[in-house]
Amino acid sequence: MSVINILLVEDEDSLANFVSEELSFEGYQVIHARDGAEALDLYKKNQSELTLIILDWMLPVYDGITVARRIRKTSQIPIIMMTARNQVTDKITGLDTGADDYITKPFDIEELLARIRVILRRAEQLALLTQQPVIYQYKDLTLDTTKHLVERFGEPIPLTQKEFELILELIRRPEEVLTRDDLLNAVWGYDYFGQTNTVDVYIRSLRNKVDYLPENRLIQTVRGVGYVLRSAHD
Ligand code: CA
Repeated sequence: MSVINILLVEDEDSLANFVSEELSFEGYQVIHARDGAEALDLYKKNQSELTLIILDWMLPVYDGITVARRIRKTSQIPIIMMTARNQVTDKITGLDTGADDYITKPFDIEELLARIRVILRRAEQLALLTQQPVIYQYKDLTLDTTKHLVERFGEPIPLTQKEFELILELIRRPEEVLTRDDLLNAVWGYDYFGQTNTVDVYIRSLRNKVDYLPENRLIQTVRGVGYVLRSAHD
């Protein structure tokens, strides 16, 4: 098995040392940055070898969101954001921070390790899925997996990674009602603190981009159940 390199960005030394040790014990190689500027610098230097980033939100120089957004300009590397807030609110999950997942401090190290495994597995699956040249089409919506491109009425629609994965799940199974749990498991890979409203938050932002014409809505809400990709005109 190849070495998995993780960039850990955390300014609290005691937490950083603890997480580093645990990650090393699990066989991961850890590179540690103590502030936002060092994070970007170390990311740049080690880009080709890095598999995952664990990124604290509150950091000196640049905060975690700034770091994530800069990295997202050129890379889809998985990012787990650590936040000290005691609750991951709609606002945070709805922000286009570029993070793939969030973990709230203080956390159980086993939970972090479990999330890393899920994210790595998910990245692998997505890589496989997007290697197969598949173009999904439903009505006037198309999704090209290799080009990572979604178009509506022939116009490209820029989406975040999670929005792309969500529309991919919907368009793979059009006219089939998917529950919030189905979508959580498919896109986030596990029960995200049982916070099924995460799905609603991402569906809302997806709708703003994909379903901007109310008369041509494709993402339908099935009250009390979930969502379905279905034309309202059928
Ligand atoms: Ca911090």
